[in-house]
Amino acid sequence: MSKNQNKTGSYSFFNCIEKNFDKAARFISIEKGLLEQIKACNSVYRMHFPVKIGKEIKVIEAYRVQHSHHKLPCKGGLRYSMKVNQDEIMTLAALMTYKCAIVDVPFGGAKGGIKIDPQTISSENIEKITRRYTSELIKKNFIGPGIDVPAPDYGTGEREMSWIFDTFLSLRSGDVDALACVTGKPVSQGGVRGRKEATGLGVFYGIRELCHVKEDMYSIGLDVGLVGKKIIIQGLGNVGYHAASFFHESGAIIIALAEREGAIYNEKGLNVSKVFLHLKNYGSILNFPEAKNIENTEKALELECDILIPAALENVIHKNNANCIKAKIIGEAANGPITPEADEILDKKGVIIVPDIYLNAGGVTVSYFEWLKNLSHVRYGRMEKKFRENVNAEFLKVIETVCKKKISIEEKKMILRGPREIDLVRSGLEDTMINGFHKIRDLKKSLKIENMRTAAFLLSINKIIDSYEKLGIFP
Ligand code: NAD
Repeated sequence: MSKNQNKTGSYSFFNCIEKNFDKAARFISIEKGLLEQIKACNSVYRMHFPVKIGKEIKVIEAYRVQHSHHKLPCKGGLRYSMKVNQDEIMTLAALMTYKCAIVDVPFGGAKGGIKIDPQTISSENIEKITRRYTSELIKKNFIGPGIDVPAPDYGTGEREMSWIFDTFLSLRSGDVDALACVTGKPVSQGGVRGRKEATGLGVFYGIRELCHVKEDMYSIGLDVGLVGKKIIIQGLGNVGYHAASFFHESGAIIIALAEREGAIYNEKGLNVSKVFLHLKNYGSILNFPEAKNIENTEKALELECDILIPAALENVIHKNNANCIKAKIIGEAANGPITPEADEILDKKGVIIVPDIYLNAGGVTVSYFEWLKNLSHVRYGRMEKKFRENVNAEFLKVIETVCKKKISIEEKKMILRGPREIDLVRSGLEDTMINGFHKIRDLKKSLKIENMRTAAFLLSINKIIDSYEKLGIFP
């Protein structure tokens, strides 16, 4: 048993990330202490605060961890789950640091968590807890546009982000940049169009890019492209639902969807929006008319498919089920869904794993766009949309004159259109995901690195070393 393993022989979540980090560090010749500094969590804030729920006073356990201050502000989601603990939040904060570096988002990594089950608490009480948590962060200077900026994660969404903003503003009235204290807000509250679906869309762009690389597809016996690929998705929350919708629209076949209560399966494909409607109406995906139920939800991961997308929680693929996984590609939409033991087993089986620190970076990328929007106090496209439309109209006139041909109204509409906020956000996200994929792949090829995860970590660590060096901290 290694020194990082606990009594049961498995690794703590933080040790899993350290293990991945160490594999990449083999390719770097730099003083060991400097690598230790990059690995360590810079600040851990563990808090307990009382909240009156009904007639009782409940003591709430919560965290905010800032993994790295090499760039500020720190950035990372806030999750609500009964599984929240210090090790988990430290790990997720570390992942954020590496993720931001890969996609060139100039933030240090952070993460927050409150140990509650939002499904069993009324929204009034969730609001009370969220607001109290925010004021605890303010007291300790753990939140602010230039300090630390939370975002949605497992169990939270736009609603919670609005409460955080409102609490921050009420205690920091007059701060003209207050909107930038949190991202993932509704558009009416300073959010950016395209943030809600950004992580799922980023997952789609990343996997689509891989599926278009002939060499990689042939190496695992698959055809090029997404059309007709059989996909299984675990978790139909924010990330899973949007990823599933984009895959479905692109012509891929979603053969199974897994949720906490069970999974559903249809070899010919599931209509994602119909399943989502069924979930909304009945509170469960089970008994969807066009599918078979799978009672043991974990078994869905083991079905025959081309691509498996875990989009729920960490450690769902472990040493006991890794050998049963039949997917040829695993796209880590969730953070840390594969344990290090499972990683080794899957590597040996030749499965291509697209790692979380790259694949789910779409959320933080668009959060960065939202933060920039909040600081600039202007909607994307507001200044240039009409100008672009006017230039396009002039251009079109010239084309019609030169070609002596009238362009149809439909074609005109398409050509004349100036960019809207959603267009700019999505194109920025697409470009980021495509670039990130090829940087990781090129590094993997040039250094003959065994897998994408190690290459992604190496790319990220090199960038962090570079920024420490530019700060003058590392000689
Ligand atoms: P969410 O709360 O919106 O959705 C999670 C879904 O997983 C829920 O529908 C839940 O019922 C389901 N689930 C829980 N346990 C399950 C189980 N055992 N089997 C199957 N399904 C189960 O959360 P989310 O924001 O979609 O986050 C999902 C994952 O993606 C997390 O690991 C999160 O850290 C990661 N992530 C989220 C974002 C983001 O922008 N929201 C960004 C990066 C990474």
